[in-house]
Amino acid sequence: MASFFQDAPVDPDLFAGDAALHAELRRRLPAEVLSAALERCAALGEATARELPALARQAEAQPPVHVPYDAWGRRVDELRTSPAWEALRVFSARHALVATGYEPGLGAHARTVQAALLHLFSASSATYSCPLAMTDAAARVLLDLAPAELRDRLVAGLTATDPARFITSGQWMTERTGGSDVGGTETVARPAGGAGDGRRFTLHGVKWFTSATTSEMALTLARIDDGGAPPVPGSRGLSLFCVEIAREPGRGWRGITVHRLKDKLGTKALPTAELTLDGAPATLLGAPGRGVANISGMLNVTRLYNAIASASGMHRACALARDYAGRRVAFGRKLIDLPLHATTLADMEAETAAVLALVMECAALLGRAEAGTASEDERRRLRALIPLAKLTTAKQAVACASEALECFGGAGYVEDTGLPRLLRDAQVLTIWEGTTNVLSLDLLRAEAKDGSFSAVVKDLAARAEGLARPLDRVAVAAVRDAVRGLAAHAQQAVQAGGDALEASARKLALRAGHLAEALFLADTAMADELAAERFRRFAALRLGA
Ligand SMILES: Cc1cc2nc3c(=O)[nH]c(=O)nc-3n(C[C@H](O)[C@H](O)[C@H](O)COP(=O)(O)OP(=O)(O)OC[C@H]3O[C@@H](n4cnc5c(N)ncnc54)[C@H](O)[C@@H]3O)c2cc1C
Repeated sequence: MASFFQDAPVDPDLFAGDAALHAELRRRLPAEVLSAALERCAALGEATARELPALARQAEAQPPVHVPYDAWGRRVDELRTSPAWEALRVFSARHALVATGYEPGLGAHARTVQAALLHLFSASSATYSCPLAMTDAAARVLLDLAPAELRDRLVAGLTATDPARFITSGQWMTERTGGSDVGGTETVARPAGGAGDGRRFTLHGVKWFTSATTSEMALTLARIDDGGAPPVPGSRGLSLFCVEIAREPGRGWRGITVHRLKDKLGTKALPTAELTLDGAPATLLGAPGRGVANISGMLNVTRLYNAIASASGMHRACALARDYAGRRVAFGRKLIDLPLHATTLADMEAETAAVLALVMECAALLGRAEAGTASEDERRRLRALIPLAKLTTAKQAVACASEALECFGGAGYVEDTGLPRLLRDAQVLTIWEGTTNVLSLDLLRAEAKDGSFSAVVKDLAARAEGLARPLDRVAVAAVRDAVRGLAAHAQQAVQAGGDALEASARKLALRAGHLAEALFLADTAMADELAAERFRRFAALRLGA
């Protein structure tokens, strides 16, 4: 009778085993910030080995439910989430996952420390990182645009570390007409009347994807219809609004009806609903008609979170695959001792380190921009690097998750191992917060506006020229060739212009994204032996070294 049973992989401490994150933090943070950051990361790392995976499993096993009516037929629109989802909210507040980005004592390093914490949290959070992304982005927008009373009241909740005061925000942009092209938005905003500052409206329309629907507030776009001239069509006619959601026990939501929760491929614990707004009270943020321009600060934050989630998912997938490789035997040897399997894992880890290097560069630049210490050139590069990072890393996250499943053989395809979730949750990273194509076109827009893509290419070229020993010579030559190739490709595309330029945007963007990863990893590799080996490997994988 068969007596063999395979040991399951064990959730590792994701910080203790993250040499890449250690190296990034060591090179980016001054000593006085570094030691406290390492302590906070160590606490989170411990949680990734025990508390967080257990909460994530429970939250996935008990997905949210929409209860439209009570037993007596009253519309209540209750969204029931699992206690584990609530525990993830509490955990997020206690570990200051949003608040760290606004911690005055951290100055320009706030986003770097925050990115490290989120890198550890995201992949073990059953996508609680999604509500956090929108919460952080809402804080950014309110700080930049909201009237003082609203700003002070809401930002205090969004950045609270006391779970009793911590609130989250949604972001309701996508309508049935489209998520990429919000210019087709049908929702209208009607003046609420009464005394006030002219900023009170009621909203009327349908929002087609609203994640974190249990949040206390949301930012959304609508077209002002004041009964005078017809509303301005297209994206120029859109204004930005803040909705404070009023839920009255037994009486539903004020001015909002929940149609249903989406039945999604992944992100199962995250409530994502379809809503009708019919009289939802809202406050206008910023100038009327400037809605699309006004969400740019929000997009920087949510896209950075997306890139962090990609790096995080890749790191966890690699860590689980490596753990399993030490437990599984094939052909008389542990998988980890089989040269080809060991190479497969090392390649995945090199790619993950490169992704992390780009993510941490973006976080550092965003921190400097928000602290007011970024140069004009750094601000310009940040504008292009964020979409580049989001689109490039999301594609890599899907590929890495797929490879990780293969590392477990058949077990990787079996639901109750929990492993298929790695792939399902990675797939969304390419879609929300701007698809690959949409972000590639965004880069062209950024280039046309202030030359930000050229600024990135110029910076990469200068970095490539500065590469030196101890970096591998073949890898360095490949990087320099690739930068020249990218610059030539960009020039040809710009000369071709029109549809040809648009058609080439995605290839150009992915090429630039991989090169940026290689060059930021090279910076880390100058002082770190393992990073240097990963730089060599990544250059071989992506740049043909
Ligand atoms: C799990 C989940 C949660 C979500 N949560 C939210 C949320 O909380 N709030 C919210 O507002 N939205 C949310 N979304 C919606 C998401 O942001 C949109 O699905 C996304 O922006 C794409 O929009 P779309 O679905 O309308 O696709 P479309 O815009 O119709 O895109 C379809 C395809 O066309 C391509 N495309 C579009 N325009 C161009 C172009 N000009 N050139 C080339 N290709 C193009 C796209 O790349 C894509 O491949 C969520 C989506 C998912 C899956």
